[in-house]
Amino acid sequence: MKKGYFGKFGGMFAPETLMPALEEVERAFKAFTNDTSCMQHYASLLKEYNGRPTPLYFASRLTESLGGAKIYLKREDLNHTGAHKITNALGQALLARYMGKTRLIAETGAGQHGVATATAAALLGMECKIYMGTVDIARQRSNVFRMNLLGAKVVPVDSGGKTLKDAVNEAMRDWTKTVRNTHYVFGSALGPYPFPTMVRTFQSIIGKETRQQILEKTGSLPHEVIACVGGGSNAIGIFSAFIEDKDVILTGVEAGGHGIDGKKHAARLCKSKHSRPGILHGSYSYVLQDENGQIADTHSISAGLDYSGIGPEHSYLSGIKRVNYTYATDEEAIRGFTALCELEGIIPALESSHAVAYTLKRSPQLAKNQTIIINLSGRGDKDIFSVADYLGKSI
Ligand SMILES: *Cc1c(COP(=O)(O)O)cnc(C)c1O
Repeated sequence: MKKGYFGKFGGMFAPETLMPALEEVERAFKAFTNDTSCMQHYASLLKEYNGRPTPLYFASRLTESLGGAKIYLKREDLNHTGAHKITNALGQALLARYMGKTRLIAETGAGQHGVATATAAALLGMECKIYMGTVDIARQRSNVFRMNLLGAKVVPVDSGGKTLKDAVNEAMRDWTKTVRNTHYVFGSALGPYPFPTMVRTFQSIIGKETRQQILEKTGSLPHEVIACVGGGSNAIGIFSAFIEDKDVILTGVEAGGHGIDGKKHAARLCKSKHSRPGILHGSYSYVLQDENGQIADTHSISAGLDYSGIGPEHSYLSGIKRVNYTYATDEEAIRGFTALCELEGIIPALESSHAVAYTLKRSPQLAKNQTIIINLSGRGDKDIFSVADYLGKSI
């Protein structure tokens, strides 16, 4: 495959001023991953600071209540700061310091990536600025306060749909002016090369751990692995270890919002009417857009899935039919959320609840001796206000 491409998807569509910076990141990333002492430092932080490896937990009550396949949860919600994002943020922050940068910037939707980047910046003594849409600031205010506590400056973005896409635009604008001392920590397997490859590499530890854990627990590979897909980093992280195992079904669950016939959703690979390949934020991939090619605004109850684009490797994996993409609506996600709270004592992130929601439908179709693994990408403390609003309750 051509460098930086997954089939015809991916590439490096960036302003001229950013090309040297992208090439610098590419070179440094190669050197960093080949440097034993750097990788040892990263591995020790993941273990001592992050809490890796995260457990693979057998959800017995959820399994029993559905009467089908055995369901295991990869507990990414138990990472420091509450989601898988920190694993990538720590890797990129170490890389930034390795490159001699003193300042980190990032975009954030749900706030989880902002919190993870702010955390890594505090840990490594770096300056940090986080761009965030004002819609997301309103629904994720506890994460905004956490970023402030960690010493980061949160910059409200009031343009466009005031969510993730608009925050990425602002962060890119900052980076073009500050590349000399600044690294842009992309939060998902998105953006121009080398970011999709780099983020996948840092998150692939999820899949490596899961593969080993399921083999230890059951002696065989799972029947199916299910993950929610925003930009696609938690999904590609867990899928990457199973892609060569053609018998393992891989399923990505997108945000179906109010349903995919209208415009209030973020289902890019589920054959919704206005999803077509296009260029957004530095790479060629499926993008939700209107008749004139204007990027469409999206809707999801979960801020982390509320994005018009998707990582290019997912467009490729969809095209070659290695991964199936489906969706769960807001209402179904709430049902997944509630089920996990009541049956397992785990409050999941609304993003992860989309993967749980699909499992509620899927598990009863399978036999009791088959296994499903859900990548439980994060915990739901940040989402209690959104859930209360949805259920018409006040906190
Ligand atoms: C950000 C986020 C996601 C979506 O991002 P991906 O890159 O698709 O993984 C999913 N779950 C949680 C908990 C998140 O914070």
